[in-house]
Amino acid sequence: MIETSKLKKIFGPIRAVDGIDLKVEKGEVLGFLGPNGAGKSTTMKMLTGFLRPSGGKARVGGHDVVAHPLDVQRVIGYLPEGAPAYPDMTPVGFLKFVASVRGMSAAATKSAIERVEDLAQLRGVMRQPIETLSKGYKRRVGLAQALLHDPDILILDEPTDGLDPNQKHEVRELIRSMAGRKCVILSTHILEEVEAVCTRAVVIARGKLLADGTPGDLRSRAPGHNAVRIRVSGAIDGLMETLRSVQGVADVERLSGSEDAAGATMVCRVRPINGRQVAPEVGRVVRERGLTLDEFTVEQGKLDEVFRDITTTQARPADRTPAAASSDTSGSES
Ligand code: ATP
Repeated sequence: MIETSKLKKIFGPIRAVDGIDLKVEKGEVLGFLGPNGAGKSTTMKMLTGFLRPSGGKARVGGHDVVAHPLDVQRVIGYLPEGAPAYPDMTPVGFLKFVASVRGMSAAATKSAIERVEDLAQLRGVMRQPIETLSKGYKRRVGLAQALLHDPDILILDEPTDGLDPNQKHEVRELIRSMAGRKCVILSTHILEEVEAVCTRAVVIARGKLLADGTPGDLRSRAPGHNAVRIRVSGAIDGLMETLRSVQGVADVERLSGSEDAAGATMVCRVRPINGRQVAPEVGRVVRERGLTLDEFTVEQGKLDEVFRDITTTQARPADRTPAAASSDTSGSES
């Protein structure tokens, strides 16, 4: 449904998007993850035909974004960053306007508006000027606009930004309810959002795609993946040393308690080398010593550790080059 090859956008000296290769299929909810200024919105603007790429190719729904932007815009729903809308229109007026731009008949418009009014939970505010709506409702109007023609492809730029926790939950439920039937790309820097709704995530920083996988795949790259946390009591003297000698263990960290006191309790974390599975061996050591085990947790690792690791250690600094400025000046929006 979406395919890019070496997609690039250069704004004067800034390489906003620097050679992105990406394929997204129907049924996927792809999280576009990256720090501020990573190039997420710029990529989305190119996919939706709003910004002309400086290089590379992108096809959306089978259409080339440069040669056939209107065909692309017919098959996508797009929620731009900040969910812009005409402030003096009411939601119903705005949605009628969008329907007319999309060439929908009067009957199709009526049923489409009823459908998105329900989906985006806009009942009660449909005739209130958009400028008087709360941020959450404005975002829902933007979502309703994106869903109006029931597109197969949805491109949502920070769909939950600025919403309160309940509203975030509702929007995520809405996206989840469409998973499987559509191809959805959403950008976010909220990691819990990726865990909550995405079937796959890519990490982008300084215009480059640095990681691609399911949220589980990405978590498995965390330094803490498969670490074992135990709370033990009994004859625990020398336990840390024994655990350190277990094959595949990188280190053992004491989180509380002490090995010295007789009959003491200790909580420690056994961190494996490269996410190796050390839990069975840790369990064996504890059993053989006849210790009392009050807690035994195999940690999955945290997505924020992976995100930090990828975006701070793998991204090259300073992608601003004078050469880029002189070789490409197509930085203005089309
Ligand atoms: P955020 O999470 O903050 O929204 P983002 O990942 O969406 O960030 P982009 O908005 O795509 O990042 O911006 C990528 C880079 O391109 C930034 O350095 C930004 O300042 C720059 N940029 C974006 N649009 C333009 C423009 N029209 N002219 C010049 N530079 C731009």
